[in-house]
Amino acid sequence: SLKGKTAIITGSNSGIGLGVARELARAGADVVLNSFTDRDEDHALAAEIGAEFGVTARYIKADMSKAAECRALVEQAGSCDILVNNAGIQHVAPIDEFPTEKWDAIIAINMSSAFHTTAVALPMMRKAGWGRVVNIASAHGLTASPFKSAYVAAKHGVVGLTKVTALETAEEPITCNAICPGYVLTPLVEAQIPDTMEKYNMGREEVIKKVMLERQPSREFATVEQLGGTTVFLCSEAATQITGTTISVDGGWTAL
Ligand code: NAD
Repeated sequence: SLKGKTAIITGSNSGIGLGVARELARAGADVVLNSFTDRDEDHALAAEIGAEFGVTARYIKADMSKAAECRALVEQAGSCDILVNNAGIQHVAPIDEFPTEKWDAIIAINMSSAFHTTAVALPMMRKAGWGRVVNIASAHGLTASPFKSAYVAAKHGVVGLTKVTALETAEEPITCNAICPGYVLTPLVEAQIPDTMEKYNMGREEVIKKVMLERQPSREFATVEQLGGTTVFLCSEAATQITGTTISVDGGWTAL
């Protein structure tokens, strides 16, 4: 059980982050939800998780595109036994048309935020004598696709950061790993469907099966519950010697 551990999950008012927060709470961890908004429903979401699983659940607003806010999130949480770097955005365009501000935002949110949160969390983990850093990378942290330059670069960067974090903590009771999901049907993926339909001149179902799941041999989306379960495993006793590596949850994508 993760009872008494505090988990911070960045970008967790939706999609994979929310699924991971729920599974960590189910395993007994107190959770800190995060996004850049500060709506009543964000705080209500935390209250629901707290009530459902009998844990302490808080929502802390912080914009992961800003270094100071990434660091303030972990400081404000007060303790951090489990850090899940999950916040991420996507933009799809050829390199020569890729807007500079989108490049900068993706590098900041998808990659640099993990550096800033980890920098503040590691001393807390050392003090507590235990820690787990789980970076939500992507199949695109290991392979590439056209039109996703910033995303692929950021996710490869996250895999690199994962290895360095693992080496710097190798002799301590702290591990750091990356989970590399294939396609998961979340709002992020949902938002790519219209553009992809236009790009390939296809209907929705055709885009899902022939374009999105074309590289996922299982032809099934992974689920947020499965990613939450993988995170809980990385926090378990069995995973103590797993560090500095990637776990693909991609229906065989990276085996192709
Ligand atoms: P999502 O859009 O449902 O969730 C993204 C989360 O990040 C949301 O909670 C959003 O509020 C938050 N976020 C966005 N910008 C932020 C900012 N500036 N500050 C703080 N929070 C911010 O998307 P998702 O699919 O759940 O993606 C979560 C992570 O999983 C991302 O890192 C994504 O790259 C990765 N991933 C997703 C898939 C997939 O198929 N969905 C596959 C591989 C990897």
